[in-house]
Amino acid sequence: MLDDIGRELRYTRDYIGQDAFSERVMTALALVPRHYFVPPELQEAAYDNGPLPIGHGQTISQPYIVALMTDLLRPRPDDVVLEVGTGSGYQTAVLARLVRQVYSLEIVTALATAAASRLRQLGCANVEVHNSDGYAGWPEHAPYDGIIVTAAAPCIPTALLAQLKPGARLVIPVGEQGGPQELLVVEKGANGAITRRAVLPVAFVPLVQR
Ligand code: SAH
Repeated sequence: MLDDIGRELRYTRDYIGQDAFSERVMTALALVPRHYFVPPELQEAAYDNGPLPIGHGQTISQPYIVALMTDLLRPRPDDVVLEVGTGSGYQTAVLARLVRQVYSLEIVTALATAAASRLRQLGCANVEVHNSDGYAGWPEHAPYDGIIVTAAAPCIPTALLAQLKPGARLVIPVGEQGGPQELLVVEKGANGAITRRAVLPVAFVPLVQR
Protein backbone atom coordinates (compact mmCIF):
# COMPACT_ATOMS: atom_id res chain seq x y z
CA MET A 1 0.00 0.00 0.00
CA LEU A 2 2.82 2.44 0.86
CA ASP A 3 4.49 1.74 -2.50
CA ASP A 4 1.22 2.51 -4.30
CA ILE A 5 0.90 5.76 -2.36
CA GLY A 6 4.47 6.64 -3.41
CA ARG A 7 3.65 5.87 -7.05
CA GLU A 8 0.55 8.06 -7.04
CA LEU A 9 2.53 10.80 -5.31
CA ARG A 10 4.95 10.76 -8.25
CA TYR A 11 2.06 11.12 -10.76
CA THR A 12 0.55 14.02 -8.84
CA ARG A 13 3.62 15.89 -7.65
CA ASP A 14 3.22 18.75 -10.14
CA TYR A 15 -0.30 19.39 -8.85
CA ILE A 16 0.42 19.15 -5.17
CA GLY A 17 3.81 20.85 -5.31
CA GLN A 18 5.69 18.26 -3.25
CA ASP A 19 7.26 14.90 -4.01
CA ALA A 20 7.20 13.31 -0.57
CA PHE A 21 4.98 13.02 2.47
CA SER A 22 6.47 13.38 5.93
CA GLU A 23 8.06 10.32 7.57
CA ARG A 24 5.70 10.66 10.53
CA VAL A 25 2.64 10.50 8.29
CA MET A 26 3.93 7.51 6.30
CA THR A 27 4.82 5.68 9.53
CA ALA A 28 1.31 6.27 10.90
CA LEU A 29 -0.17 4.82 7.68
CA ALA A 30 2.14 1.83 7.95
CA LEU A 31 1.02 1.16 11.54
CA VAL A 32 -2.77 1.44 11.27
CA PRO A 33 -4.32 -1.90 10.20
CA ARG A 34 -6.68 -0.79 7.40
CA HIS A 35 -8.38 -4.19 7.28
CA TYR A 36 -10.02 -3.43 10.66
CA PHE A 37 -11.93 -0.62 8.94
CA VAL A 38 -13.04 -2.55 5.84
CA PRO A 39 -16.17 -4.80 5.71
CA PRO A 40 -15.56 -8.60 5.93
CA GLU A 41 -16.43 -9.28 2.27
CA LEU A 42 -13.80 -6.76 1.06
CA GLN A 43 -10.86 -7.89 3.22
CA GLU A 44 -8.80 -8.91 0.20
CA ALA A 45 -8.85 -5.33 -1.08
CA ALA A 46 -8.10 -3.74 2.32
CA TYR A 47 -4.55 -2.69 1.38
CA ASP A 48 -5.29 -1.67 -2.23
CA ASN A 49 -4.87 2.03 -2.99
CA GLY A 50 -8.57 2.65 -3.61
CA PRO A 51 -11.72 3.72 -1.78
CA LEU A 52 -14.10 0.93 -0.66
CA PRO A 53 -17.79 0.91 0.31
CA ILE A 54 -18.51 0.81 4.07
CA GLY A 55 -22.33 0.76 3.90
CA HIS A 56 -24.88 3.60 4.20
CA GLY A 57 -23.73 4.83 0.76
CA GLN A 58 -20.37 5.89 2.23
CA THR A 59 -16.76 4.92 1.52
CA ILE A 60 -13.46 4.54 3.32
CA SER A 61 -11.17 7.01 1.54
CA GLN A 62 -8.35 5.97 -0.76
CA PRO A 63 -5.04 5.53 1.15
CA TYR A 64 -3.22 8.05 -1.08
CA ILE A 65 -5.91 10.66 -0.27
CA VAL A 66 -5.66 9.88 3.46
CA ALA A 67 -1.87 10.32 3.26
CA LEU A 68 -2.18 13.57 1.27
CA MET A 69 -4.83 15.14 3.54
CA THR A 70 -2.99 14.10 6.70
CA ASP A 71 0.28 15.51 5.35
CA LEU A 72 -1.41 18.78 4.31
CA LEU A 73 -2.73 19.19 7.84
CA ARG A 74 0.92 19.34 9.13
CA PRO A 75 0.02 17.44 12.34
CA ARG A 76 2.22 18.05 15.40
CA PRO A 77 2.35 15.86 18.53
CA ASP A 78 0.63 18.42 20.79
CA ASP A 79 -2.20 19.29 18.40
CA VAL A 80 -5.91 19.00 19.07
CA VAL A 81 -7.63 18.21 15.79
CA LEU A 82 -11.25 18.11 14.61
CA GLU A 83 -12.26 15.63 11.91
CA VAL A 84 -15.61 15.89 10.12
CA GLY A 85 -16.85 12.62 8.56
CA THR A 86 -15.61 9.75 10.77
CA GLY A 87 -16.93 7.09 8.37
CA SER A 88 -15.04 3.88 9.11
CA GLY A 89 -12.69 5.66 11.55
CA TYR A 90 -9.57 4.90 9.49
CA GLN A 91 -8.48 8.51 9.00
CA THR A 92 -9.29 9.06 12.69
CA ALA A 93 -6.92 6.25 13.71
CA VAL A 94 -4.14 7.65 11.50
CA LEU A 95 -4.57 11.10 13.08
CA ALA A 96 -4.68 9.59 16.58
CA ARG A 97 -1.10 8.37 16.10
CA LEU A 98 0.08 11.85 15.11
CA VAL A 99 -1.60 14.32 17.47
CA ARG A 100 -2.58 14.64 21.14
CA GLN A 101 -6.37 14.49 20.72
CA VAL A 102 -8.81 13.86 17.88
CA TYR A 103 -12.47 14.90 18.00
CA SER A 104 -14.47 13.38 15.15
CA LEU A 105 -18.03 14.06 13.95
CA GLU A 106 -20.19 11.63 11.97
CA ILE A 107 -23.77 12.29 10.87
CA VAL A 108 -24.81 8.63 10.31
CA THR A 109 -25.54 7.16 13.76
CA ALA A 110 -24.67 3.54 12.84
CA LEU A 111 -21.29 4.59 11.38
CA ALA A 112 -20.46 6.76 14.41
CA THR A 113 -21.25 3.90 16.81
CA ALA A 114 -19.32 1.30 14.82
CA ALA A 115 -16.28 3.57 14.38
CA ALA A 116 -16.20 4.49 18.08
CA SER A 117 -16.19 0.85 19.16
CA ARG A 118 -13.60 -0.12 16.52
CA LEU A 119 -11.30 2.70 17.67
CA ARG A 120 -11.76 1.65 21.29
CA GLN A 121 -10.86 -1.96 20.43
CA LEU A 122 -7.75 -0.74 18.65
CA GLY A 123 -6.73 1.12 21.80
CA CYS A 124 -7.05 4.65 20.40
CA ALA A 125 -7.57 6.38 23.75
CA ASN A 126 -7.14 9.94 22.44
CA VAL A 127 -10.22 9.90 20.19
CA GLU A 128 -13.80 10.98 20.77
CA VAL A 129 -16.50 10.34 18.17
CA HIS A 130 -19.75 12.28 18.25
CA ASN A 131 -22.89 11.67 16.19
CA SER A 132 -23.79 15.12 14.86
CA ASP A 133 -23.79 17.40 11.84
CA GLY A 134 -20.25 18.54 11.04
CA TYR A 135 -21.39 21.82 9.46
CA ALA A 136 -21.67 23.14 13.02
CA GLY A 137 -18.24 21.80 14.04
CA TRP A 138 -17.77 20.89 17.72
CA PRO A 139 -17.60 24.25 19.52
CA GLU A 140 -17.05 22.77 23.02
CA HIS A 141 -13.46 21.76 22.20
CA ALA A 142 -12.60 24.68 19.90
CA PRO A 143 -10.37 26.32 18.84
CA TYR A 144 -8.50 23.57 16.98
CA ASP A 145 -4.90 23.32 15.78
CA GLY A 146 -6.24 21.75 12.59
CA ILE A 147 -9.52 20.61 11.00
CA ILE A 148 -9.89 17.91 8.35
CA VAL A 149 -13.14 17.27 6.44
CA THR A 150 -13.50 13.97 4.57
CA ALA A 151 -16.66 14.78 2.55
CA ALA A 152 -17.19 17.53 -0.03
CA ALA A 153 -19.01 20.71 0.98
CA PRO A 154 -20.47 23.14 -1.60
CA CYS A 155 -18.49 25.90 0.14
CA ILE A 156 -16.33 26.26 3.25
CA PRO A 157 -18.55 25.98 6.36
CA THR A 158 -18.21 29.21 8.35
CA ALA A 159 -18.48 27.44 11.73
CA LEU A 160 -15.34 25.45 10.90
CA LEU A 161 -13.40 28.62 10.03
CA ALA A 162 -14.51 30.15 13.32
CA GLN A 163 -13.24 27.08 15.24
CA LEU A 164 -9.70 27.25 13.77
CA LYS A 165 -6.90 28.74 15.87
CA PRO A 166 -4.97 31.62 14.30
CA GLY A 167 -2.12 29.98 12.38
CA ALA A 168 -4.09 26.72 11.92
CA ARG A 169 -5.17 24.86 8.78
CA LEU A 170 -8.40 23.40 7.45
CA VAL A 171 -8.09 20.67 4.79
CA ILE A 172 -11.38 20.26 2.92
CA PRO A 173 -12.73 19.12 -0.46
CA VAL A 174 -15.08 21.75 -1.88
CA GLY A 175 -17.51 21.39 -4.82
CA GLU A 176 -20.78 19.77 -5.84
CA GLN A 177 -21.27 16.01 -5.93
CA GLY A 178 -20.64 14.71 -9.44
CA GLY A 179 -19.25 18.13 -10.42
CA PRO A 180 -15.71 19.42 -10.14
CA GLN A 181 -14.32 19.32 -6.61
CA GLU A 182 -11.02 20.70 -5.36
CA LEU A 183 -9.09 19.72 -2.28
CA LEU A 184 -8.36 23.01 -0.49
CA VAL A 185 -5.89 24.00 2.19
CA VAL A 186 -7.41 26.95 4.03
CA GLU A 187 -5.18 28.84 6.46
CA LYS A 188 -6.15 31.28 9.15
CA GLY A 189 -3.30 33.74 9.55
CA ALA A 190 -2.06 35.01 12.90
CA ASN A 191 -4.19 38.14 12.30
CA GLY A 192 -7.26 36.05 11.41
CA ALA A 193 -7.01 36.59 7.63
CA ILE A 194 -8.11 33.57 5.56
CA THR A 195 -6.09 32.31 2.60
CA ARG A 196 -6.84 29.27 0.46
CA ARG A 197 -4.92 27.09 -1.97
CA ALA A 198 -6.42 24.49 -4.33
CA VAL A 199 -4.22 21.38 -4.21
CA LEU A 200 -5.85 18.69 -6.35
CA PRO A 201 -9.09 17.84 -8.21
CA VAL A 202 -10.86 15.15 -6.15
CA ALA A 203 -14.12 13.12 -5.97
CA PHE A 204 -15.64 12.83 -2.49
CA VAL A 205 -19.08 11.84 -1.20
CA PRO A 206 -21.07 14.95 -0.22
CA LEU A 207 -21.02 16.59 3.21
CA VAL A 208 -24.78 16.33 3.63
CA GLN A 209 -26.88 19.19 4.92
CA ARG A 210 -29.77 18.46 7.23
N1 SAH B 1 -12.59 9.37 6.67
C1 SAH B 1 -13.62 8.42 6.36
C2 SAH B 1 -14.36 8.88 5.13
C3 SAH B 1 -15.77 8.53 5.17
S1 SAH B 1 -16.73 9.18 3.83
C4 SAH B 1 -13.02 7.04 6.13
O1 SAH B 1 -11.90 6.99 5.58
O2 SAH B 1 -13.64 6.04 6.44
C5 SAH B 1 -17.38 10.67 4.55
C6 SAH B 1 -18.18 10.53 5.80
O3 SAH B 1 -18.75 11.82 6.09
C7 SAH B 1 -19.37 9.58 5.72
O4 SAH B 1 -19.26 8.62 6.72
C8 SAH B 1 -20.58 10.47 5.90
O5 SAH B 1 -21.65 9.83 6.59
C9 SAH B 1 -20.01 11.62 6.70
N2 SAH B 1 -20.78 12.86 6.60
C10 SAH B 1 -21.44 13.33 5.52
N3 SAH B 1 -22.03 14.50 5.82
C11 SAH B 1 -21.72 14.78 7.12
C12 SAH B 1 -22.03 15.86 7.99
N4 SAH B 1 -22.78 16.91 7.61
N5 SAH B 1 -21.53 15.82 9.24
C13 SAH B 1 -20.77 14.77 9.67
N6 SAH B 1 -20.45 13.73 8.89
C14 SAH B 1 -20.92 13.74 7.62
